[in-house]
Amino acid sequence: MGEASKDLLRLARNLIAFDSRSAVSNREIADFLQSELIGFEIERLDFTDAAGVAKSSLVARRGKGGQGGLAFSGHMDTVPPAGWNRDPFAARVEGERLYGLGSADMKGPIAAFITAARDLPEDVPVMLLLSCDEETTKAGARHIVAESHVLKAQNPDLILVAEPTELTCVRGHRVDIQFIAETVGIQAHSSLPHGRNANLDLIPFLADMRALHLKLRTERASQDVAYTPPWCDLSIVVNNHGAAPNITVGKATCHMKFRYSKAIDPAWVVEAVERSAKAHGVTLEVRPEGHAPELAADHIYVRELEKLSGKPARVAGFGSDASQFSAVAPCLLFGPGSMAQAHQPDEFISLFALQDSVSLYRQLASRFATRK
Ligand SMILES: [Zn+2]
Repeated sequence: MGEASKDLLRLARNLIAFDSRSAVSNREIADFLQSELIGFEIERLDFTDAAGVAKSSLVARRGKGGQGGLAFSGHMDTVPPAGWNRDPFAARVEGERLYGLGSADMKGPIAAFITAARDLPEDVPVMLLLSCDEETTKAGARHIVAESHVLKAQNPDLILVAEPTELTCVRGHRVDIQFIAETVGIQAHSSLPHGRNANLDLIPFLADMRALHLKLRTERASQDVAYTPPWCDLSIVVNNHGAAPNITVGKATCHMKFRYSKAIDPAWVVEAVERSAKAHGVTLEVRPEGHAPELAADHIYVRELEKLSGKPARVAGFGSDASQFSAVAPCLLFGPGSMAQAHQPDEFISLFALQDSVSLYRQLASRFATRK
């Protein structure tokens, strides 16, 4: 293993060692990343998340090549480890695999683009967008888009989101709108007369949501054949907050997630849900995630990444920070590792893929530097 590869592995191992699950503070891993980015101009965006936890996003840039160029995006947070047979925070190399929580999603890819960016010639402008809370609210990327002066000043030509795509160009993905519908009754012993079951108000709303769910599956106009499955899913979850049959239900919540791609206008779905909630006296909260990112199959950047990787571009069902960053620049997803390992026990990344990605990232940053 050469010096550069050792450096890459050291960085990936160090990142895995930090507990940066979305629910805890990421300040320590942000401090560490900042210390690794010597020679970069760094903008640090500190904030407190909705649960009162201290969080930080980082924006870094280097190179004297002027505006534009390539930006790499990565998230510092991970999902919680579930079902692991190893210590999720103790990175381990076995054969050609690096095991650890976030090795693929996405501490390994972050280590790869930092390694690539550090060694670029001075005349190649490069930018790093390091977010948090990607796995939950996208709050880290939202703060970058809303507040970063460095991002506005640099105005990158392309933001490459380094999610684990097996070094295949993902040119678009779905985003979601979440709906939280709620009805309140009066909780009581169900043998007594004064209770009022909250489900009675929710059930007519649910009947409408069932019809909407089925309509989305059959109506061609609201489908996008580029995606698998072609229909937009409306996932419906119903919660009675632990009520048993001898309890009159005091509160009923229906939590729904509607996923759609760029070709689909979600407005009629939102209107249908709002109309039904209003008609049945259901309180409703609507939480849109952001923009559905997608570049056309024949877009020049898509073609460029296809040539570089030797593989055809595709679209994907999973989400990423591109739902936020596509508001400011074109976004593509391209990273080592596989989504098949992400969010799985004993997550790993291939060391070969990790090393390959460093040279691909370097080539790509250099091409974008000479684009104008
Ligand atoms: Zn990810």
